[in-house]
Amino acid sequence: MTSNTIDRADRFMFETYKRFPITLVKGDGCRVWDENGKEYIDFVGGIAVCALGHSSPIVSKALYQQSKKLVHVSNLFYTQPQTELAQILVENSFADRVFFCNSGAEANEAAIKLARRYSKEKFGSGRHSIITMHNSFHGRTMATLSATGQEKIRVGFDPFLEGFRYVPFNDLGNLGSAIDGSVCAVMLEPIQGEGGVVLPDPDYLKGVREICREHDILFILDEIQVGMGRTGRLFAYQHFGITPDIMTLAKALGNGLPIGAMLAIEELADAFGPGSHATTFGGTPLITAGALAVVKSLVNEGWTEKARDMGAYFKNQLINLQQKHSIIKDVRGLGLMLGLSLDREGAGIVSTCMERGFLINCVQERVLRFVPPLIIGKEEIDLLINCLDEIFKEI
Ligand SMILES: *Cc1c(COP(=O)(O)O)cnc(C)c1O
Repeated sequence: MTSNTIDRADRFMFETYKRFPITLVKGDGCRVWDENGKEYIDFVGGIAVCALGHSSPIVSKALYQQSKKLVHVSNLFYTQPQTELAQILVENSFADRVFFCNSGAEANEAAIKLARRYSKEKFGSGRHSIITMHNSFHGRTMATLSATGQEKIRVGFDPFLEGFRYVPFNDLGNLGSAIDGSVCAVMLEPIQGEGGVVLPDPDYLKGVREICREHDILFILDEIQVGMGRTGRLFAYQHFGITPDIMTLAKALGNGLPIGAMLAIEELADAFGPGSHATTFGGTPLITAGALAVVKSLVNEGWTEKARDMGAYFKNQLINLQQKHSIIKDVRGLGLMLGLSLDREGAGIVSTCMERGFLINCVQERVLRFVPPLIIGKEEIDLLINCLDEIFKEI
């Protein structure tokens, strides 16, 4: 039984996505099912989004209850879930202030706007440039695309927003030389996600923090993919002995509900005063009630610690695989954000995994990326490891 969903999708929508030829109709925990009833264990997790798994009863309950009370009233008014969500994020991070929006790109837009406005108010005109990294990914809007250091994503959309320059990740010397009187901020992902699961060298982030302090410029961390417990800490910066001035969140913050957040230190509060920035849908009672339930669960039910332990187990199993198969060049990552770098393209392996009931993902052509729900168990990990072992044997 196959419906014509795929044919109709390709006819009626822009084909902006290169999709796998399956139609998913149901999810539960770490598993999803297609319209033919075939079951898959999901190591993509909606791209690091569904931390608590699919059809999480925690989220469903919060949404249902809030939907009967108040869905939307605009940000002209105070609402309880939005306030509570801001408080729990502040109380569990370096930050003092939160701005809510609807996506990762919007959170980064807010960060870019805040950095520029703060810098202008403090130092005057001409100090508006932002340094980002080669192979970074910050979103698809014009400003965040301008911030993204990957040519292939930018093709055809120029002219870009003025004032972005790019330096290699993990290179303090290059960063230092790129700074002049026109720079207001450095923005980076503490672990590059789309860039191929690239970890910072020991002390790199400390070095960036020091350079920013020296030049009195802002340090912006894009934790949209790595934040919310995935790395084994609630936020990835907590591994590296630093705090940023601004941090952006999205993906797992709502477990699939559309929400982003931009967090910052008190010193920046005045630069985003009344009338400076806004969104219609950002932080509605409905969505923030759902996200509040997600954050409470991540914080209070130990999912972050479980991500650390299960991630260590998973990584160890991948390292064992590497010892058996020379096709694997490198195993890297932190917590449940793991990458397997191959000596060849990974698309075929992703397809074979799918045929055998496992959803995985490939970035930068050659890096298999695993960002499963944080509720994944050893049994599911072992099944995937066996599947990969078989596939590598057959190659
Ligand atoms: C996914 C992602 C974004 C963009 O988020 P959207 O919600 O797709 O706009 C930005 N930065 C990083 C690091 C991401 O992983």
